[in-house]
Amino acid sequence: MSKRDYYEVLGVSRDASQEEIKKAYRKLAVKYHPDKNPGDAQAEEKFKEVSEAYEMLHDVQKRAKYDRYGHTGAYAAAGGAGYGGDYSFDLNDALNAFMRDFGGFGLEDLFGDSRRTRGRSRSNRGEDLQVRLLLTLQEVAEGVEKTLKINMHQDCAECRGTGSRSGKRSTCPDCNGTGQVRSVQRTFIGQFVSVGACARCHGSGEVIQDKCASCGGEGRVKKDRTIKVKIPAGVTTGNYLTLRGQGNAGLRNGSRGDLIVLIEVKEDETFERHDDDVLFDLPISFSQAALGAELEVPTLAGKARVTIPPGTQTGKILRMRSKGIPHLNSSGRGDQLVRLTVWTPTSLSVEERELFENLSKIESQSPPAAGRGFWKRMKEAFSA
Ligand SMILES: [Zn+2]
Ligand SMILES: [Zn+2]
Repeated sequence: MSKRDYYEVLGVSRDASQEEIKKAYRKLAVKYHPDKNPGDAQAEEKFKEVSEAYEMLHDVQKRAKYDRYGHTGAYAAAGGAGYGGDYSFDLNDALNAFMRDFGGFGLEDLFGDSRRTRGRSRSNRGEDLQVRLLLTLQEVAEGVEKTLKINMHQDCAECRGTGSRSGKRSTCPDCNGTGQVRSVQRTFIGQFVSVGACARCHGSGEVIQDKCASCGGEGRVKKDRTIKVKIPAGVTTGNYLTLRGQGNAGLRNGSRGDLIVLIEVKEDETFERHDDDVLFDLPISFSQAALGAELEVPTLAGKARVTIPPGTQTGKILRMRSKGIPHLNSSGRGDQLVRLTVWTPTSLSVEERELFENLSKIESQSPPAAGRGFWKRMKEAFSA
């Protein structure tokens, strides 16, 4: 089977940045993730396809090989069976790739799977719910426990979820208790038998005799429910948690659906996030830039001091090690970058004016020749 172009699969251009590739993949992978599309084979194929493309393109070396040699080059780089060999990328590889870079915090089993495995019929299962959870950067830095209040289907207290006032049930007359109905279709190429869930009993095989008045026989009613969620430090927009069995209650004691909590991180007023590093802009005065200084700056963990070396230029970046965001799936944390800008006073006192005038007469150094070189060096210092 010939494979589609990886760039095409992710919907990015060939000169897309690594960041764009990551973003495009995250969006597609969240959409097609098997946890969100249970039993959907097409979504699973899509998920595998986008994950494979991401695996090749997010690694700069593999991407370079792919750009030059196409799929065979990329497989060789991936340690596959070699040129022309059959490199295979299965669902497990795809899930691992996604978990490694984006999510699954190991909290999947937080609430256990017991409800799902109670053996109820699948068609009675409650719907999955999705909620967005907005976090501040501070909460991301520390990890946080949030209490969510969600209006969802819950077991009806009146009938204890059975849907029947008396609790009496009888075998469904439409399907004779099998939960399935067969229908035979005759067409010009022959006869087809299809099997589907019985519409009357929704596949449960039983019907209730006297409907509960408060839930109308559904066995569930909509109510507010509070759920506590522990968010680990280091999450980012697009991460999500699947809380198994915390979604809508099913029909007549059917198992609960899942609750999917999608993380969204608010822009911060003080810090600009770059993966697990945070950037802080610090204006300094002429004299601080020339003489050096020790200044206090905010960090995600309170105030800290930085040393401005003498002779500092605008654009210089100071790196405060391990003052950034904790890594999500490993130990350690990012850095805080302090970007310095020399601030020019907008008005001068008489005394200052006099000093600057004197200074201008005795200045020994003047700025280097203008042109692109100077700012290019500044830019490089920033991207380092
Ligand atoms: Zn039935
Ligand atoms: Zn009820």
